Amino acid sequence: MESQLRNVIIIGSGPAALTAALYNARADLKPLVFGGARWGGQLMLTTDVENYPGFPEGILGPALMEKFRHQAERFGAEIATVDVTAVDFTKKPFTVIAGNKSYKSKSVIIATGAETNWLGFPNEQRLIGRGVSSCAPCDAWFFKDKKVVVVGGGDSAMEEALTLTKFATEVTIIHRRDEFRASKIMIERARANKKISFILNSEVVDVLGKDKVSGVKIKNNNDGATQELVVDGMFVAIGHSPATEIFKGQVELDEKGYVIRKAKGNPSTLRQAQDSGSTGAYGMMTSVEGIFVAGDVHDYHYKQAVTAAGYGCMAALEVEKWLENQR
Ligand code: NAP
Repeated sequence: MESQLRNVIIIGSGPAALTAALYNARADLKPLVFGGARWGGQLMLTTDVENYPGFPEGILGPALMEKFRHQAERFGAEIATVDVTAVDFTKKPFTVIAGNKSYKSKSVIIATGAETNWLGFPNEQRLIGRGVSSCAPCDAWFFKDKKVVVVGGGDSAMEEALTLTKFATEVTIIHRRDEFRASKIMIERARANKKISFILNSEVVDVLGKDKVSGVKIKNNNDGATQELVVDGMFVAIGHSPATEIFKGQVELDEKGYVIRKAKGNPSTLRQAQDSGSTGAYGMMTSVEGIFVAGDVHDYHYKQAVTAAGYGCMAALEVEKWLENQR
């Protein structure tokens, strides 16, 4: 496995990586997937997934990822549950170091995902899935006629709060400063919604409840005073951290560490961009020719399993086309 020159190495093992593996395996590219010691991505940490199409009764996150893996392996994808520790994308063929061994490949798909940033106290971790969430599109439905808080002051916090108003009776945004990081339009939308109220200059310091969330403890950052708020849920929207440490200096990253998809051409219209496929503004190629990206590691906007899978499919198809053009 080590000495062989691979067509494609896929780094990651969430929905983006395993969808890319499935497509590349079915194209007979014999992909090698480095899934990491903790394979499966963020869905391994969730319980019921009710918004992945094709599972009308819902499915447990780990069970869904087992199916992804099984489907990719069925068509010949090799999945190694070892961590990639270094890469060298400066020379072709590209080098990927995993488990102290060096692998060479003509192309690589980066699909290492991103992790939710949490506030970081024990009760928050204990109550994830029991009233603590970081995904309103996934979990808002469970908060019908309930009261919730959303923590954060960026676009995600505004968007999560707006999504929650479709079900919850009251949504309180708690932000640590009195100025928002969110865009003006998102703040205005949140302010215009009668179900949304704000507590500013304040931080959530604890989340209360034995088996499920019953409230949050808030500290005012101006005077240090604390208060308890009775709520049924806490949505944490303080950003994500893309898993890109090993790609620093190898492909272009944005200021938050997300991989940048490179526009090759200069399409003046969306139609032109779409028509130009992988060479347009919306391709999956990174700043390095032959290195592709898929999923939450570049997408800080949608962050859904189904969108990650879609990006994985796109990256795999682009790899296939790119390899054909290299001959
Ligand atoms: P973000 O813009 O980085 O905002 C994170 C927010 O969380 C900030 O207000 C920050 O406070 C707060 N925060 C960070 N750490 C905290 C902590 N430990 N305790 C309390 N508060 C904390 O992240 P984001 O909202 O996830 O957005 C990420 C990117 O996606 C942005 O570029 C955003 O524009 C984009 N996005 C766009 C849309 C849209 O256009 N519809 C929707 C979602 C996301 P401070 O402000 O004090 O630092």
